Amino acid sequence: MTFVISQGCCRDASCVAVCPVQCIRPRPGDPEFETAEQLYIDPAVCIDCGACVEECPVDAIHPDHDLPAELSGYLDVNAAHFASGADYDRIPVRHVRPRLPEAAEELRVAVIGTGPAACYAATELATNRGTHVTVLDRQPAPFGLVRSGVAPDHPRTKLIADRFASVLSRSNVDCYFNVHVGTDVTVAELLEHHHAVIVATGAQDDRRLGIEGEDLPGSHGAKDFVAWYNGHPDHSGDVVDLSGERAVVIGTGNVALDVARILMRDPETLARTDIAEPALQALRDSNIREVVIVGRRGPESIACSAGELEELAKLPGVELTVTCPPEDLEHLDPGDRRFRVLTEAAREPSGGKRIDLRFRSVPEALNGTDRVESITLAGQGELAASLVVRAIGFSSQPLAGLPFNADKGILPNERGRVLEPETGEPVAGVYCTGWVKRGPTGVIGSNKVCAEESVAGLLEDFVSGRLVKPLHTREEFAALMAGRVPGAVGFDGWRRIDETERERGAESGRPRLKIVTKQEMLTVASGR
Ligand SMILES: Cc1cc2nc3c(=O)[nH]c(=O)nc-3n(C[C@H](O)[C@H](O)[C@H](O)COP(=O)(O)OP(=O)(O)OC[C@H]3O[C@@H](n4cnc5c(N)ncnc54)[C@H](O)[C@@H]3O)c2cc1C
Ligand code: SF4
Ligand code: SF4
Repeated sequence: MTFVISQGCCRDASCVAVCPVQCIRPRPGDPEFETAEQLYIDPAVCIDCGACVEECPVDAIHPDHDLPAELSGYLDVNAAHFASGADYDRIPVRHVRPRLPEAAEELRVAVIGTGPAACYAATELATNRGTHVTVLDRQPAPFGLVRSGVAPDHPRTKLIADRFASVLSRSNVDCYFNVHVGTDVTVAELLEHHHAVIVATGAQDDRRLGIEGEDLPGSHGAKDFVAWYNGHPDHSGDVVDLSGERAVVIGTGNVALDVARILMRDPETLARTDIAEPALQALRDSNIREVVIVGRRGPESIACSAGELEELAKLPGVELTVTCPPEDLEHLDPGDRRFRVLTEAAREPSGGKRIDLRFRSVPEALNGTDRVESITLAGQGELAASLVVRAIGFSSQPLAGLPFNADKGILPNERGRVLEPETGEPVAGVYCTGWVKRGPTGVIGSNKVCAEESVAGLLEDFVSGRLVKPLHTREEFAALMAGRVPGAVGFDGWRRIDETERERGAESGRPRLKIVTKQEMLTVASGR
């Protein structure tokens, strides 16, 4: 017997520390850890102790005899990773959290955001004796893209929110949700009440194509589109027209594939997920029969993970086709699971619902009078489409009072210490982590190592006396916030939203029925 890591692994490496024989690879420090799609278990070394199962926040680890049928291929996927005979050392690695000296004054840190990066940073800080963490988010509901980005038909991935909730509920963590830093409170004010601030605001904007017609109704950025089907309150009123027969998704990364899959998946399957009710109704009424995923380059440059592509190929009732010059498929690496899917996909449609991966296609313009009617692809002419979703990447927004690198779309930083661009010196007390630190790449677990690095720098600066003692107390901060944002939601308020959503969902066999307007969220949070 062996254990198997399956689709959904978010690469946070929680399992690595508990494995007595270190057969879960690559682990942090192994050369391929940064680029690996997931972690794998070496069946020849695993001693079946089961310790890793409990550690996994997204239930991605299964004993081989209990592997769900749809994940059975992962037995080979795990074994194949070790087929090359890579010579891994088996010396256990343990993440030792930096400790504050006994006599140190209480360290107070404000973390802006509650996405994975913020939650990992809060974990790293709050589990350290002698710290107090203030967590702020502009939304009434926490967890960033775990709630508003991860696809509703990937429920196991969302389980990580339970682990994050256990940190935010700690007695040395204060939560202020529905608070926009920059508008309701400034970074300077946070610094007056804390030794340090960690910015973990993610990448909130969709990258633009810069082509004509991009702003026509019917053209959506993927972030907005995904936020719509995930019930993000800023998008609960969005109107998404699915009355046409063809949608075009631009980009070949995982987000593009998520969008295509949600558009084509049977709505009754989605009705068992936490998809937002308005989106579910729209998808039930949808006329879309074909989604064309457009990539600029050839199939060798496809940006998605193998797991996502395999899932697309297995979507019930939907055919996956590939459109590209035949010679493009001849030289693909047969050892790469993605290329196996591409070469096995049909070249000619059979007439049913389909998703077409169309390579070497460069969008030139979106056309239409009042709304999108077609897309022009360079050298290929017009393709009729009533919906176009641009999934070509994201960029962060500047935060008032802090430097910003507009070219890279991130805060200028060195290992998480925010830098003054003119001098290259650290901005006293200001750190960053997650997508706003390194750009919009990596999965949920990638933010763990990233946050650990930023917090390590912060603790080092605190211990060496480089952080300024706050001018005001915790109580004074609470009073400031009570005056500024009477509708701020604390952790108890979020708990009320969470319980209400779960109760409403249980009535219809769903994990939760999301509350999609800010007003209702605030009412439920207030307990009135
Ligand atoms: C559509 C989509 C699907 C994805 N699916 C997966 C998946 O299935 N599995 C996986 O492992 N990874 C997935 N990822 C990647 C993963 O979500 C990211 O790695 C991760 O969310 C980045 O974390 P973050 O904390 O930097 O940003 P975010 O998760 O975006 O969190 C940023 C937080 O900051 C808050 N904020 C922003 N500005 C302010 C402000 N001024 N004041 C207060 N709060 C503010 C936001 O409200 C938000 O809560 C997906 C990404 C996207 C875009
Ligand atoms: S079952 Fe035990 S030995 Fe096998 S991978 Fe998990 S922790 Fe390691
Ligand atoms: S999600 Fe984390 S704990 Fe689970 S298998 Fe992947 S790396 Fe291990």
